[in-house]
Amino acid sequence: MTHIPGIVITGASGRMGQMLIRTVTDSDQARLVGVVERTGHDWVGQDVGVAMGGAALGVTVTDDPLEAFAQAQAVIDFTAPEATLEFAALAAQARCVHVIGTTGMSDEQIAALEPASRHAVIVRAGNMSLGVNLLVQLTKKVAAALDEDFDIEVIEGHHHHKVDAPSGTALMLGEAAAEGRGVDLAEVSDRGRDGMTGARKRGDIGFHAIRGGDIVGEHDVLFAAPGERIVLRHLATDRAIFARGALKAALWGQGKAPGQYDMVDVLGL
Ligand code: NAD
Repeated sequence: MTHIPGIVITGASGRMGQMLIRTVTDSDQARLVGVVERTGHDWVGQDVGVAMGGAALGVTVTDDPLEAFAQAQAVIDFTAPEATLEFAALAAQARCVHVIGTTGMSDEQIAALEPASRHAVIVRAGNMSLGVNLLVQLTKKVAAALDEDFDIEVIEGHHHHKVDAPSGTALMLGEAAAEGRGVDLAEVSDRGRDGMTGARKRGDIGFHAIRGGDIVGEHDVLFAAPGERIVLRHLATDRAIFARGALKAALWGQGKAPGQYDMVDVLGL
């Protein structure tokens, strides 16, 4: 009989947490063995199925991540940067694959994942969907084929609860465009993280973030030159695409050598 990996979901009550719990419980390739919420959250101590308004799932929400991770082979984590850093150390201690969907991590926080990745597999991506990861590859190709007559603008939209801007996906797309063009994103996007500040320079890459209603995630990469425009677009209408990608990453990571990976590795793009 093949071994079915046990999965822990952190941030159980979150938008992605609940979607991940449904995705794992519906899968015949994985088992839900634990769910974690922050201390003081009213879900802690309850059966997670009941807390979600449905039937009992036989898994109690805990605020003790290490105890939960000790029962598991993978942790899927869509929470917040500080929490993700704590979970990385604990997941490494428990030798669990750590799938990180959390966005908005600073360069210092990303660098701080390094010690954990010496002991365990970390798969981290600002977007776990197949479509966006394909879009990243296409963006790199198109940027490499076009010269600097084409301005590159990344335009993204999300729901109004989203904390970070531009989105992790927009930054992935900007990095891909910069890589395709053979430039360093940090040097060509001084308007980047604060949106529309500063005047456009030749070769600059701009970011624009829209926040409103219940938009799940929309990304355009616009290449605009005098007389013509190319637009590459991805529209997410259902968070299930991120959850399915995250579960695929958790399964892919089983038995892999410790280190840091992304969805391009998982999807073989
Ligand atoms: P959310 O605010 O709905 O959920 C976050 C959850 O994490 C909350 O339930 C919160 O209580 C919990 N949490 C925070 N600190 C915790 C801690 N220390 N211990 C346990 N739980 C803790 O947010 P969301 O919309 O579900 O998004 C979560 C993250 O995932 C964000 O960073 C978002 O940008 C990212 N995201 C990534 C992708 C992707 O494909 N990579 C897709 C969608 C969202």
